[in-house]
Amino acid sequence: MCGIVGYIGKRDAYPIILNGLKRLEYRGYDSAGIALYDGKNIQLCKTKGKVADLELKVTNEMSTIGNLGIGHTRWATHGEPNDVNSHPHYSNSGDLVIIHNGIIENYAALKKELINRGYTFYSDTDTEVLVNLIEDIKKNENVKLGKAVQVALNQVVGAYAIALFDKNKPDEIVVAKLGSPLAIGIGDNEFFVASDASPFIEFTNNAIYLEDEEMAIIRLGRDIEIRKVKDDSIVAPYIQELQLNLEQIEKGGYEHFMLKEIYEQPSVIKDTYRGRLLADKGIIRLGGLEDYIEKFINADRIIIVACGTSWHAGLVAEYIFEDWARIPVEVEYASEFRYRNPIITENDVVIAISQSGETADTLAAIKLAKEKGAFVYGICNVVGSTISRATHSGTYTHAGPEIGVASTKAFTTQITVLTLIALKLAKIKGTISQSNYMLHLRELDLIPSKVEAALKKNDEIEKIAKIFKDATNFLYLGRGYNFPVALEGALKLKEISYIHAEGYPAAEMKHGPIALIDEHMPIVVIAVNSNHYEKVVSNIQEIKSRKGKIIAVVTEGDTIVREMADYIMEVPNTPETLSPLVTTIPLQLLSYHIALMLDRNVDQPRNLAKAVTVE
Ligand code: GLU
Repeated sequence: MCGIVGYIGKRDAYPIILNGLKRLEYRGYDSAGIALYDGKNIQLCKTKGKVADLELKVTNEMSTIGNLGIGHTRWATHGEPNDVNSHPHYSNSGDLVIIHNGIIENYAALKKELINRGYTFYSDTDTEVLVNLIEDIKKNENVKLGKAVQVALNQVVGAYAIALFDKNKPDEIVVAKLGSPLAIGIGDNEFFVASDASPFIEFTNNAIYLEDEEMAIIRLGRDIEIRKVKDDSIVAPYIQELQLNLEQIEKGGYEHFMLKEIYEQPSVIKDTYRGRLLADKGIIRLGGLEDYIEKFINADRIIIVACGTSWHAGLVAEYIFEDWARIPVEVEYASEFRYRNPIITENDVVIAISQSGETADTLAAIKLAKEKGAFVYGICNVVGSTISRATHSGTYTHAGPEIGVASTKAFTTQITVLTLIALKLAKIKGTISQSNYMLHLRELDLIPSKVEAALKKNDEIEKIAKIFKDATNFLYLGRGYNFPVALEGALKLKEISYIHAEGYPAAEMKHGPIALIDEHMPIVVIAVNSNHYEKVVSNIQEIKSRKGKIIAVVTEGDTIVREMADYIMEVPNTPETLSPLVTTIPLQLLSYHIALMLDRNVDQPRNLAKAVTVE
């Protein structure tokens, strides 16, 4: 995920692009770049760091003349965040310049082909492959830029919002979209391009939002030409009048980043398995894992080290790894692990999980594990982060920047990656039947739509939040795969509403917490279809006998728990093994609404920070 912005018209492009990048910086902030064109010379400047670093570099290094410009604030997916990998990228001839938001999944094959044809690559990005593919087609087929883009995009698998221009066409920008957003602002013979409308809202209220697989050829002095990428057919432009303010636009119309991130989960879970899971073919491909598969297969045990929400994702992984791959798993708080002289051998595989990739305790645990000779695998969200570099190998979650301090989409994308790894290992080890393997691949592919369905219950959850917002204690209960979800649900509530909450395995209730239950105590029970369903029903009975208020997460169509619970939150039927990916959704929403009603700072709760770089 990143921010792109472009301008062509009568004004100086530089201030528009620079301000636009500042507004889009929430989308990605590991590096930034800009290209300006005055009809004769292209000026290009890019740097690792924030837009402010770019601004400084531009001031020192280049002229800012030009009525055409494109800019990018990056959130790396391919290649670490450094100056070279930053966008924009030139084609080999130096004629084409591109910015890109998204992932070109088949970039490796395309790159190989282009290298065979004599192309040279200076960065590690998938984007540089795309711009050279366009150049290659333009030259070989002797077509215009727009046509070359259309032909190239038909060869691409993945997601993109792109903007590019050609040195030989000083009055034209070509844009296209699939999966990533792209808005075109229309002024008086001037045009703006951006990931959302915030960069141009003060210049024009008229915008076209491109649909997936549409491209636009934007030429000064002409009407915009929109075409379908598939067959080059013309699409009539639909110009909308925007009625949003800046603040709303940056959060995509959501009131808070946290809510936006909760709602992004269907798409980011998909982004996380995109190109890695080929459900119909029964294939899981994880670049970071392929070369080290033997280490996992032969491991005496897997030790998962993490903190906070990532630790909960690790607990879910314990269930799936042991169940499917039959490898013993231990899940450790990184902070405890590093200080207790743990027994680690060369036959252990350590998986370190961290959204930011900067968590100090997890990093220290990694160093310790490496010293003892273990193989260390990282699961991080931020490309090029310290942990992603400190581990032997790893897999990125493609959740995009998580701005809300309370983690939501990082959790579900971590589970997605861990599920892919567990299934892959189980398949190779032969510890899962072919039919069960195929079933889970297909079911995983259905998770985004199930999460979508779970999100549709938001209004009902908001009503429940209203009823319980003044409670001072909450208990969260779950069994099996949903025990870690109970822990995560309680953590979310604590973090953003400051209400005390505890997560427990449902059966442990009788060993203590049951003493807390009275008619004032809300108890959130995850009671979806599972092997433990009857047992959970018994636990609910026990709570009812003590007059506790039951809020149950149930499978759509459930009748038994519905009868017993005071309130229910429904989620679609999902195999138990994958159910944490959907049962966690209502718990996120419940915490969000309670915190909001209590007037808490949802995105920046007190005393917390996003990347915990202190121990
Ligand atoms: N895949 C591209 C890169 O890693 C674009 C990432 C983005 O959307 O920021 O450079």
